[in-house]
Amino acid sequence: MDETAFFPVAWSGLKAPGYWDYLAQVLFAQYTGLENYDNFWDFIPTTGTQEDNGYTVYSDQGILEALNVIEELENTDYAVPGTSSMDHIGAQARVFTGSSLMVVSGDWVYKEMEKDFGQYLNDVVAIKTPVLSAVGVKLGLCGSEHAEVENQVMESCANCESALKSIVKDIDENTLTDAEIAAKHTGVSVDDVQIIRERRGYYLDQTGISVAIPSYSNAKDVAKKFLRFLYSTDGAKIYQQNTHDWLAVKEIEKADTSTLSEIDRLIYEIVLYRGV
Ligand SMILES: [Zn+2]
Repeated sequence: MDETAFFPVAWSGLKAPGYWDYLAQVLFAQYTGLENYDNFWDFIPTTGTQEDNGYTVYSDQGILEALNVIEELENTDYAVPGTSSMDHIGAQARVFTGSSLMVVSGDWVYKEMEKDFGQYLNDVVAIKTPVLSAVGVKLGLCGSEHAEVENQVMESCANCESALKSIVKDIDENTLTDAEIAAKHTGVSVDDVQIIRERRGYYLDQTGISVAIPSYSNAKDVAKKFLRFLYSTDGAKIYQQNTHDWLAVKEIEKADTSTLSEIDRLIYEIVLYRGV
């Protein structure tokens, strides 16, 4: 192995291989759209009855496209050697200390890394999920015969890709209307731009953390009051300031982003992004 080689991707094979799922679900939804994504979980097929065809949700092309991207990122040319026996702190530490470029994680990562890597917290920022190249091909952004791409395992077209990059850049800069963005490209409709704008905003709102009050507790009322407080504007603010995590955002007041640190502002913008 070349000792000076840079491996951009870090991930934890030992403790958190499931983190890839956070990315896979978003890429899948980008490709197939929110309605099909929701229907996947309910086994609602695009044609036929749930009873007869429910299983066909597993053959959604978006699943394959998402897995293709992750397979590519896990390629040994990109992923750091030893990653399969690395824990999540070790994988994240590589990114925080600048030894790798990216890791898939969640907004809890800053709290998790604060104790041992606190001096690096501001060196790492959350980014919106990149838009799957296959979305550009699916929409036919090049407006003609797709260009051949050599050595490309994923569904791809160089012309669709350059149009997609330009459209995402314009959407992020947020100075042009969808019609103005569409007009810059032959073969791109306003509907295409709207679809990309919406999907640029997808992120996974993980609901795997639960709170329970034991039935035998002698402090059930206080516990209920505490939870009510936690989900109030004041409670959520205290929680956010101490964890970098935005609770039940729809229910709380909009934040004044000028008072937020850069890392908190970027997470807030992902959570509050309204693509449509
Ligand atoms: Zn194309």
